[in-house]
Amino acid sequence: MIYDVIIIGGGPAGLSAGLYASRARISTLIIEKAGAGGQIATTDEVANYPGSIADASGPSLVARMVEQSDEFGAKRVSDEIKSVELDGEIKILKGKKEEYKAKSIIIATGAVPKLIGCPGEKELTGRGVSYCATCDAAFFEDLEVFVVGGGDSAVEEAMFLTKFARKVTVVHRRDELRAAKSIQEKAFKNEKMNFMWDSVITEVKGDGMLESMVVKNVKTNEEREIFADEDDGAFGIFVFIGYDPATELFDGLVDMEYGYIKTDDDMKTNIPGVFAAGDNRVKSLRQVVTATADGAIAAVQAEKYINETFGD
Ligand code: NAP
Repeated sequence: MIYDVIIIGGGPAGLSAGLYASRARISTLIIEKAGAGGQIATTDEVANYPGSIADASGPSLVARMVEQSDEFGAKRVSDEIKSVELDGEIKILKGKKEEYKAKSIIIATGAVPKLIGCPGEKELTGRGVSYCATCDAAFFEDLEVFVVGGGDSAVEEAMFLTKFARKVTVVHRRDELRAAKSIQEKAFKNEKMNFMWDSVITEVKGDGMLESMVVKNVKTNEEREIFADEDDGAFGIFVFIGYDPATELFDGLVDMEYGYIKTDDDMKTNIPGVFAAGDNRVKSLRQVVTATADGAIAAVQAEKYINETFGD
């Protein structure tokens, strides 16, 4: 069978693309590696997706997205795509289980934030350790937060956090920031911003919620444990040490910038019939709401491409 569109990835971008494509009555297959949902499937609360109030948990939002996309006829399979041939009019995807063919492809493979990799991090994610200031800043109103990283993202997000937190300390593994000088200048002028140089977090601890962290000075090897201020009783750690876009499969095939897929406003890549949507593409805001918007645009454009290329 040759599908009209195959969507690789079953997160919000892929499920939204599936909904829009199937509603346009084009044959649609969503291929997902593990379960559906991507990053939000493991998010406790998605409080910033419009309309997501009554039951705002990530798994519940995903379940509703899946139900909606299934209802209109998008087919879903679980498989891992191992290689792709995108040049011809018919695109070929070779999975672990099967080979798939389609007139157009939407790459919605997402991205994952890089982890510190220290003990306790996974257990305390969403319990004091966060990778998204836009999502979680409000939980730390008037508290102290630490931001890991020294790049543009870390410093910009740290400054965003100063609007909520009482004090923000950037924990950076070197003694100078990687962030652009213009961003640094603003950060150094901000009275709520502090810097802990030559430092890495080696452990985070807490029984259910973050209670303390162990910080090591990489020059002296000295380690100390930092606890929440007694009056506060809680603090936060935000990690911004880069993302890993899941795009290796398309390396050398599709135009990219730092591993992210380049698209135009219509989600078109440099290859006709190949679109990208969601966190794996070059963009300024990686959120569920922008991923679902990308998916909708990609599906509408894929339908247009199919009609123009293969006739109605
Ligand atoms: P990035 O530029 O790669 O910076 C990552 C930061 O995390 C670096 O300071 C790095 O330290 C640190 N780091 C990496 N691995 C670490 C580890 N295991 N433990 C502790 N620290 C670690 O990533 P980004 O800030 O996410 O930015 C990604 C790209 O988007 C960049 O090209 C950036 O310019 C761009 N961006 C631009 C803007 C803007 O223009 N306004 C905003 C956000 C992002 P070292 O410095 O020691 O390597």
